[in-house]
Amino acid sequence: MSRRDIVLLGATGSIGQSACRVARDLPDRVRVVGMSGFRNMPRLAEEANCLRPEALAVPDAEAAKELRALLDYAPTEIFTGADGLEALAAWSDADTVLVAIVGTGGLRPTLAALEAGKDIALASKEVLVMAGEMVMAAARRYGRRILPVDSEHNAIYQCLEGRDPHHVSRLILTASGGPFRAWPAEKLRAVTRQEALRHPTWRMGEKITIDSATLFNKGLEMIEARWLFDMDIGHIDVVIHPQSIVHSMVEFVDGSVLAQMSHSDMRFPIQYALTWPDRIAGTLPPLEWPKLGKLDFEEPRYDVFPALDLARAAAERGGSAPAVLNAANEVAVAEFLAGRIAFPRIWEIVADVLERSSGAGGDLDALLEADREARERATSLAGC
Ligand code: NAD
Ligand code: MG
Repeated sequence: MSRRDIVLLGATGSIGQSACRVARDLPDRVRVVGMSGFRNMPRLAEEANCLRPEALAVPDAEAAKELRALLDYAPTEIFTGADGLEALAAWSDADTVLVAIVGTGGLRPTLAALEAGKDIALASKEVLVMAGEMVMAAARRYGRRILPVDSEHNAIYQCLEGRDPHHVSRLILTASGGPFRAWPAEKLRAVTRQEALRHPTWRMGEKITIDSATLFNKGLEMIEARWLFDMDIGHIDVVIHPQSIVHSMVEFVDGSVLAQMSHSDMRFPIQYALTWPDRIAGTLPPLEWPKLGKLDFEEPRYDVFPALDLARAAAERGGSAPAVLNAANEVAVAEFLAGRIAFPRIWEIVADVLERSSGAGGDLDALLEADREARERATSLAGC
């Protein structure tokens, strides 16, 4: 039985909080040696006082001062700023870094962690959407493993274990369909922030909740799967499954399908990623089949939710196109949450920014530049 010593990036978020709970439930298996938080210092202090990480990272000196005053122990180090986040990701006592920062803020720390020889438990899908090729190449170069925390990818990882890749014909991502799954298209223009934030099956951070309502979450996940499993985007499909019990499936060349199922609780994939290759008994509740009743599956409404086709097109174009899609979406979601644009504008802005971008690829600097330009364009479109 081995213990993982982890750095938890994004400890104050929805995934971060579930990860803290997993660590509290499995003290012999998971020790949190580092934690970062961005805005909510009281919450970071609460978790730190409980799990006592040696090192912490916060955005600036002011946050560090606030945090220090709330801590009831003296950590070895409190890092600040973007460099501090990378230093925490490379913390010498850690063997694994759980990246749960929303958006692309997790990219540099992920690369820093790989370079420092850490395995990655990855929740932040935006990291792979933006720079999947680079991150997977870095993992290979440093001989490290990327264990997916995103429930769909964690499910596929479980279904693929020990299988011959030549036997796989298709990855099938399930999607709840979000709160507007059955809404008529014409009602979507009047969707409110509150309606979009009411996810039917999962409790998550605001950005991913809006992504789930537009189906951009599933679009991002198609690209994430493309890199994690080295699968051509043409072999990655999506099916709507409103109950969120089947977390995803793998279809094999003989027509057989393996699926992974559990309650819709992120502690399942987090615990699996942090205790892999073991399975731990007794912390999470199994499914009660008669209570489930039935499981439904349906085709996505591609015309009403254009996010899936946009993501597929970006993946097919390659280069910086997925980074551009991701950046434009981040801006559009923030604009929607701020009440400045209507819900369907999110799709329109992403489509517009993608169409105008060259999509040229390149190194990390080129991707960061494409990301910056896409954000600028999306911001100006949102203001029109
Ligand atoms: P959240 O908004 O609840 O939390 C985000 C965390 O990131 C917080 O700890 C915040 O302090 C930190 N953060 C935000 N901006 C930052 C920045 N610029 N620099 C450093 N830290 C920053 O988000 P979440 O729902 O926990 O999602 C986190 C990631 O996990 C996202 O990429 C999301 O797509 C992915 N994910 C989430 C879920 C879920 O159930 N919540 C499921 C699958 C994947
Ligand atoms: Mg997911």
